[in-house]
Amino acid sequence: MAEFRKSMHDVSHLGLRCAECSADIKELPFEPKNDRPVYCSDCARKRRPPKGPRSSFGRR
Ligand SMILES: [Zn+2]
Repeated sequence: MAEFRKSMHDVSHLGLRCAECSADIKELPFEPKNDRPVYCSDCARKRRPPKGPRSSFGRR
């Protein structure tokens, strides 16, 4: 049972655009909010703080 499927919200009918590169957004991993800018998966990943290989702090 290692299959983890993120529930994606279909937002293709909303005609959302990425706030960064204005690409069409078809689905989001979260519920879209009007007062919140949305980003495509590419930009969302870029905006996240980079995870170093030594981020397993306190793990194990
Ligand atoms: Zn983008």
